[in-house]
Amino acid sequence: MKIFKVCHACDRIIGEIELDDLTSNNTDPIMDIIGNVAYALCTDCLNDMKTEPCNVYH
Ligand SMILES: [Zn+2]
Repeated sequence: MKIFKVCHACDRIIGEIELDDLTSNNTDPIMDIIGNVAYALCTDCLNDMKTEPCNVYH
């Protein structure tokens, strides 16, 4: 079964993954699977969080 991997922050589709892969040993700890969509963070948003860990814009 194929599911979409979508960025949690910018809603960009990162790619498609096989759900079977998730049940094996390469599960992404930040990934959150809802229905047939796996929410994660794209590299851009991941870099933003890593470079600006203490800044919160609200
Ligand atoms: Zn993103």
